[in-house]
Amino acid sequence: MSRVLVVGAGFAGAVYARELAEAGYEVEVIDKRSHIAGNCYDYVHSSGVRIHHYGPHLFHTSNMRVVEWLNTFTDWVPYDHCVVARLPDGRLVPAPVNLDTVNAVFGTQLETPQEVADFLSTRVIARDPITSAEDHLYSKIGPDLTDLFFRPYTQKMWELDLSEVDASVVQRLQIRTDRENRYFPSDTFQAMPKDGYTKIFERIFDHSKISVRLNTEFSASMLADYDACFNSMPIDEFFGYEFGELPYRSIRFHLTEVPKADAPEHVVINYTDTSPYTRETWWHRIPAHLVSDTGTVLRTVEEPCDYKDNHLERYYPVKTSDGRFEKIYKLYQEKAAANDRLVFIGRCGTYQYLDMHQVINQSLTHVGKWIQDHR
Ligand SMILES: Cc1cc2nc3c(=O)[nH]c(=O)nc-3n(C[C@H](O)[C@H](O)[C@H](O)COP(=O)(O)OP(=O)(O)OC[C@H]3O[C@@H](n4cnc5c(N)ncnc54)[C@H](O)[C@@H]3O)c2cc1C
Repeated sequence: MSRVLVVGAGFAGAVYARELAEAGYEVEVIDKRSHIAGNCYDYVHSSGVRIHHYGPHLFHTSNMRVVEWLNTFTDWVPYDHCVVARLPDGRLVPAPVNLDTVNAVFGTQLETPQEVADFLSTRVIARDPITSAEDHLYSKIGPDLTDLFFRPYTQKMWELDLSEVDASVVQRLQIRTDRENRYFPSDTFQAMPKDGYTKIFERIFDHSKISVRLNTEFSASMLADYDACFNSMPIDEFFGYEFGELPYRSIRFHLTEVPKADAPEHVVINYTDTSPYTRETWWHRIPAHLVSDTGTVLRTVEEPCDYKDNHLERYYPVKTSDGRFEKIYKLYQEKAAANDRLVFIGRCGTYQYLDMHQVINQSLTHVGKWIQDHR
């Protein structure tokens, strides 16, 4: 077996392609888009600012295997991501919720984590069992903070009430009782690629056994030309939606050029209001993103929507508390397992939200095993 097809030039496809090429396989990568890097694609805009075309991608992990693998393809600039939320009265407070957020919202003067914990315990409504996002948040922080920071956001993001969203969606979010204001405090490695993400992909694909064809959509007739196919396309689309559709949320990105002097000092500002928009990003504030200073910078405002209202751009798999889409995914997964020359990979191939470090780690593990099994 020597010739393989990789569908998708995002991180899943790139890791598979590189590892298979290193193991001696001839690899052809196709992507229907006109660029490599999948949803991590970035470029330097004419304003001189590097932007991420599909929304801000912050690299953070505690998995040093992933960092070591990437070190071959990039240098890094240190960056600890911090976010603020704009309250209805215009004040900006740390997000996720921490000690300072609690004091700002309730007008308290709490000083220690214990005082915050004691205060929040007077606001919570205990729920048992914890099934929905609302159960989790009401039990942890109570309705006041939940309804300010999570309910409008969830409605915009998922078009669902918190009571309909699976608890796991919010369980990974931090609620801090101290003054920690970093967005990913538990990750030991946080940094941005010095030359951007797209450069990483150029270097990954720069291998004598890898060829990349862009503007090329997968079609089933291609399979006959290859000994195996690693496919990051949506699994329901591959099977013609036979068991039903796997829905996704998407985001419309609204880009504006702004005089640098008018820009705030924050990278990301979350909105707590009921407008259709969730947050804004100021790219030049991220290290290595003000590539040349023209006096003009960029703001991106995000507007969540159904993927059918955004050219079928699939970003976030929809997880409901009743697990109905997981069940549909399992049917596709079982059907796919019957073909040992076809492996579904990545976010849309496996219908799960994966951060970059997770998709790289998962892909390294699975492709390593596949190579072992096919020696
Ligand atoms: C808005 C947003 C913000 C994010 N922020 C972060 C963050 O801050 N930190 C973080 O770690 N992760 C973040 N992520 C997650 C990150 O984007 C993913 O981990 C990563 O993109 C997954 O890689 P992938 O290869 O699975 O999918 P993708 O990057 O989506 O790549 C899949 C590729 O397959 C191609 N493809 C699909 N169907 C076909 C077809 N039929 N034929 C040919 N090609 C096809 C697509 O065009 C695409 O290029 C974010 C994601 C989104 C959507």
